[in-house]
Amino acid sequence: MQKTVILNPGREKSLLRRHPWVFSKAIARAEGDPQGGDIVKVVSAEGKFLCRGAYSPASQIRVRALSFAEDEQITPELIAQRVSASCKRREGLVSEGNDGVRLIASEGDFLPGLICDRYNDFLVISISSQAMEAFRHAVIAELEKLFPDCSVYERSDTKAREKEGLEKRCGVIKGDEPPDTLYVKEGALIRIPVDIKNGHKTGAYLDQRASRIYASTLSNDARVLNCFCYTGGFGLWALKGGAQSVDNVDLSRQALDEAKAGVAENHLDPGRCRFIRADVFKFLREQAEKGEQYDLVILDPPKFAESQASLKRACRGYQDINRLGFELTKAGGHLLTFSCSGLVGPELFQKIVADAALDAHVSGIVRTALRQDRDHTVSLPCPETFYLKGLDVEVV
Ligand code: SAH
Repeated sequence: MQKTVILNPGREKSLLRRHPWVFSKAIARAEGDPQGGDIVKVVSAEGKFLCRGAYSPASQIRVRALSFAEDEQITPELIAQRVSASCKRREGLVSEGNDGVRLIASEGDFLPGLICDRYNDFLVISISSQAMEAFRHAVIAELEKLFPDCSVYERSDTKAREKEGLEKRCGVIKGDEPPDTLYVKEGALIRIPVDIKNGHKTGAYLDQRASRIYASTLSNDARVLNCFCYTGGFGLWALKGGAQSVDNVDLSRQALDEAKAGVAENHLDPGRCRFIRADVFKFLREQAEKGEQYDLVILDPPKFAESQASLKRACRGYQDINRLGFELTKAGGHLLTFSCSGLVGPELFQKIVADAALDAHVSGIVRTALRQDRDHTVSLPCPETFYLKGLDVEVV
């Protein structure tokens, strides 16, 4: 019997717009006893074809659509073609002097739940859906074909994976074990530390590449405060841009140690930076009480809004740190502020930042809007793929 998912009446709208997620609530019943990773046909209550996708019995996202064409079958060859097309999309970034590049960005490349990052000669894959778990071998085989000289490592240890009912899987798939820290060239000028085995995500935040490079243009002779610094990328670019001093702040001791090593690795002046292990909220309050002022304040916090239920609290969190950020920014200086919460769209984010400026009794001018770098592709039918937005606000 063909495996088919039948929707409740009127629940086909998002699929008609080619959004790839079918939520459990939209489903009336499944026929043919589909198991995790099985390809199912999804039809409307009236029996009209909507898509083919992979079934995931434990997840709220019960089906991830893989094709909207009725005559297209979901085969390992189709997935391999998409892997290859994704890698090709990034060739420009590589030729611009970037050795750390996101080759596959999940829904952004029509491969829902699959990330692949390249760090020099290491490929790191992270699978967080039943859909891509089912095609794991095809994905790896294609990557090995495209990058025969690269080692392949797996970091399938995301929270999303748990929700899909999949066990964690980390380790070497092919070739060498990654070193504790390696460095990738960014924008041809800076080498960014990456910890593939134990770092966040697959080892680095490649999505901020363009904004880090931009930060260097605001840094000449500046006193810089780099909040949520992780392994210090913004700080390295600030030093490269001529910063007088950089205060790097993060909670993670390990990240700060890597940030420190990164300064030496880039032959930058360690005398011009501090590495401060602190809670950013607390640190900002203390600095504000002391009347400290910086020319450039960078706020790149982790995702505050994990769900609709936590959105309000998250907005308050963003407003609080941005108010403190404004208080610490000199007149004429810049606040470079980000949110990676997909639920906080660019308009809402700008409103929060505007409210924060009011709270801090300052006026600001948005000099530019920033966003995730272009290897973190955005799929038009899946707006959630545009998650990282930022503003460069000049304080006047
Ligand atoms: N700006 C970084 C990426 C930041 S990721 C880059 O360009 O690479 C977010 C960082 O915030 C993580 O390193 C995490 O350890 C840190 N973090 C999370 N909550 C924190 C808090 N309350 N205070 C300080 N650091 C925090």
